[in-house]
Amino acid sequence: MKESLDNYISRCINCGFCEAVCPTLDAADFQAYYGARGRVNLAKEFLNSSLSEDSVINSFNSCLHCNACLAVCPAGISAGEISEQMKFLAKRKDPLAIFIARNIIKYGDPLNIGKRATFWSRGLKFNDSSEYLLYTARMYQLMPYNSAVSILRKKFGNGILKVFSNIMREIGFSGALLAPFVERKKIEEFNSILINIYKLITDSGVEVRYLGEDEPYSGAMLLELGFKEEFNEYANWLVNFFKSKGVKKIITIDPHTYTLLKFQIKEYVDFPFEVIFYLDLVKKEVKFNGSITIHQACHLERYGEKYRKYNEILSGTRIIYPYHFNEKTLCCGGPDEVLFPDMTDKIADRRYQELKSTNADYILTMCPICYVNLKKDDKVIDISQFISNF
Ligand code: SF4
Ligand code: SF4
Repeated sequence: MKESLDNYISRCINCGFCEAVCPTLDAADFQAYYGARGRVNLAKEFLNSSLSEDSVINSFNSCLHCNACLAVCPAGISAGEISEQMKFLAKRKDPLAIFIARNIIKYGDPLNIGKRATFWSRGLKFNDSSEYLLYTARMYQLMPYNSAVSILRKKFGNGILKVFSNIMREIGFSGALLAPFVERKKIEEFNSILINIYKLITDSGVEVRYLGEDEPYSGAMLLELGFKEEFNEYANWLVNFFKSKGVKKIITIDPHTYTLLKFQIKEYVDFPFEVIFYLDLVKKEVKFNGSITIHQACHLERYGEKYRKYNEILSGTRIIYPYHFNEKTLCCGGPDEVLFPDMTDKIADRRYQELKSTNADYILTMCPICYVNLKKDDKVIDISQFISNF
């Protein structure tokens, strides 16, 4: 944000358009402060020092940063951006959020899954002298472990998980501790998506490098959880890390990493690398006789550009769009899973029902978080699986 938070907020004319599209308002049974306009008003009151941090933080923490509010605001304001700033200003942080942030800073990975992040690449050929770096940012690999955290939360409750996070962040955490709770089937599922993505790129004539166990996470969650200063430091480290590896072109494979490295990171550091989304490199036109619907990711529609390259690949396929599509796409419930799992469940259910009601043969996602939240039946598949199969 280039202007001061005060100025930014003062542009709000209180019209409430943002409220109508904010997915968390509905999921919180219409409690005003869990909606976009409520967050803007709460930030105003907080900056006037009339409210305590404890009374406001859940409202900002529960924002999904989906930017649906920005898409409809006549004043060009994003309550998501305001929430991000407010989370940063708030000194009190959730123990689980601190645990994740410390892992990112210490291990370059929110859950320190170590070499487990590389298992998908066994037996595949990489070219260390290629100018293209295939950067998974460990996103698809982390999903089965995130799901394990959800299982533990449901089993033992949030309180115990927070106590555990408090202890673990001090003594150090290894993803191996989660291994007994991770479903092998899920690991195989996500590894096969990564292999599909690799094959789509290399079958299109692009050889890639992969950094294996050295590959760090992007740091996106530091921003999402309000650790701006830590992100600043991490971003500087990431730039130097890529430079030390001689990186020039980075192929990202998920929307969060793509928009972070292409747009958001530039507010913090000079990022002198070309950032590409993998679908840009795919040379294939799908031929499928049935119909599909697409869940377009918030980050590809409302962060810096409207990314629609997949339309060329899918041009020979009948697409039935859901009620919310293109820049009005609805969030899957995404990053809230960490701190507000019930809210995520409700938002994901609503979006899944909307996609299902199109009666399309397949529901395509293009983000690992969307895939996890919306994978309620076999019709839901990652776009790379669909392109590979048809
Ligand atoms: S849409 Fe914009 S101007 Fe209207 S209430 Fe929301 S933030 Fe304020
Ligand atoms: S970014 Fe999304 S969740 Fe956050 S206030 Fe805006 S519409 Fe609501």
